[in-house]
Amino acid sequence: MTQAKIVLATRNVGKVAEFERILNSANLDIHVLGLRDYPDMPDVEETGSTFAENALLKAEQIAQYTGLPALADDSGLCIDALGGAPGIFSARWAGSHGDDKANLEKVLREIKELKDPSLAAHFTCAVAFVMPKGADSEGQVVVREGRIEGEIVMEPRGSNGFGYDPIFQPRGYLQTTAELPSEIKDQISHRGQALAKILPELTKFLEPQ
Ligand code: IMP
Repeated sequence: MTQAKIVLATRNVGKVAEFERILNSANLDIHVLGLRDYPDMPDVEETGSTFAENALLKAEQIAQYTGLPALADDSGLCIDALGGAPGIFSARWAGSHGDDKANLEKVLREIKELKDPSLAAHFTCAVAFVMPKGADSEGQVVVREGRIEGEIVMEPRGSNGFGYDPIFQPRGYLQTTAELPSEIKDQISHRGQALAKILPELTKFLEPQ
């Protein structure tokens, strides 16, 4: 019998690495494919107004394109002093999609412009799972969210992770998420929490194909 398959709907290499680590550590007997296995898949436009809507858009379109169960996330950093920004625009805050360094620098510039700002912030992650057409549980959808509270540090520290990790220090820790070992980040992160909630649901639908 062959393994059940699932496609991860993200081209962000930092996120793919985290997803794969977390899925592998859950010891699921699932073959995880990524968008690198579907290089011609058109980019999904993130037109939703919430993390959950965007995650669902990505999972639906990728399940439709690949004919396989799809798992997508949408995540971002929400900074209290910036009214929750960059939020769903985290990946493209400085203009071009995925320019982590420019995004981080823009956020720090914006905080510096404020007088005595609160540095409270959180990461949120919504994960969505969609079964493709033709499957037994066709169209089945599951969405779950995770969140991690912390604060912004004005001097970036650490080189693990990706995105805003060098400027985010989780509550109760003295290191940023770019300084923490990846096993610790996976246990406490928004993505780790969202995946821990959705994994038991997934195993109900995935069957060897
Ligand atoms: P998405 O691919 O549209 O979900 O964009 C998510 C963006 O939010 C990423 O490009 C990062 O800038 C940021 N982000 C999300 N999760 C993390 C994380 O765990 N660490 C650092 N930055 C993150």
